[in-house]
Amino acid sequence: AIRLAKRLDEVGFSDIVQIRNKVMALRAAGNKVHSLHGGEPYFETPEAIKYAAIQALVANETHYAPSSGIPALREALAEKIRTKNNIPATVDHIIATVGGSQALYGAFQVVLDPGDDALVFSPYWTPIADLVRGAEARPLLVPTSTARRNGITATLTQFSTPKTRCIYYNTPQNPSGVVFTRAEAEEVAAFARERDLIVVADEAYEDLVYDGSHFSIASLPGMAERTITCYTFSKTYGMTGWRGGYAVAQEPFMTALRKIVLYSTNGVPTFIQHAMLHALQTPESETAARLEEYRKRRDLLVAGLNAVGLECEPPAGAFYAFPNAEKIHKNSRTAAEILLEKAHISTIPGSVFGAQGEGHLRFGYAISIPEIEACVEALKAFLH
Ligand code: PLP
Repeated sequence: AIRLAKRLDEVGFSDIVQIRNKVMALRAAGNKVHSLHGGEPYFETPEAIKYAAIQALVANETHYAPSSGIPALREALAEKIRTKNNIPATVDHIIATVGGSQALYGAFQVVLDPGDDALVFSPYWTPIADLVRGAEARPLLVPTSTARRNGITATLTQFSTPKTRCIYYNTPQNPSGVVFTRAEAEEVAAFARERDLIVVADEAYEDLVYDGSHFSIASLPGMAERTITCYTFSKTYGMTGWRGGYAVAQEPFMTALRKIVLYSTNGVPTFIQHAMLHALQTPESETAARLEEYRKRRDLLVAGLNAVGLECEPPAGAFYAFPNAEKIHKNSRTAAEILLEKAHISTIPGSVFGAQGEGHLRFGYAISIPEIEACVEALKAFLH
């Protein structure tokens, strides 16, 4: 009989795929579905970025490139990382990856040995636990709300084990919208330094902060040496399908990450790197204008949710609302099913993001304003 490596036995498939399939089935049956299960920007990739890719194709930028990324892109990224994120970095500390996903995959692969533990602030972006398990390690879920209430250091101490090697630190956080403060980052950093832990920082939503400001943990003293920071072009530039991302790290991480990228994809498609380079030249004003668009959507949805009794704090960042949904059903999976079947609103059950997400539903608001208004109307009709 065919036998596969056991390595993937503990790795699951995201439940989000099943929800997407149900939505498609409802639509195929002629229903209008209010889609709030997704996590994609409301706008298309800007024309200038598309033209940069087309121009690169025409100029035959279709050959093998250095596996870690074309020098011009890495130079531009190093500059961005130094000036915007305040992380000390040169081109040698940058690697282009196939989305933030490959950066995160690589980070856990290079950090974790079989039997190791990884602290994961929870609720967390669903793939993280599987990426940790794929490295034959164990995710230790750290309840974010408890940590913020009772103290980060005390909570990390409570959940860590002698086998703990790293901390997954995502800010702004998907699905909760939590934006950790600088003081909180300092506590996580102090804990990491004291216990000699590595930080895997996920800053996919760095440009989507409404309240407070984004702070990169690797900018703190002694942290650039022990942090792998992962970024993506997906959310800021509306480039989810391009699969552009990058990681920032020092040695010995970088050499190890280079091996992962070399032997998995041998780099990001060359013409796409040219589009990424162009995206980096987007004027600040454009990104700022989009942030205000997102803010309008957030305020509209959060007001609507609270109006029907789905209690929701305004999320400080990213583009998800994460209300308590026990009014619909205590079990978030059932709540999501009821909402989809009865009100034709697609959301993601909180339990998908770890036990700490139970009782909640994730509503993605990176959609058009009329779509949000229609969703709020449907919620009112269903819950009143
Ligand atoms: N990190 C978080 C928290 C995310 O939500 C996502 C995408 O949804 C990613 C990383 C990776 O995005 P991508 O692989 O599209 O770059």
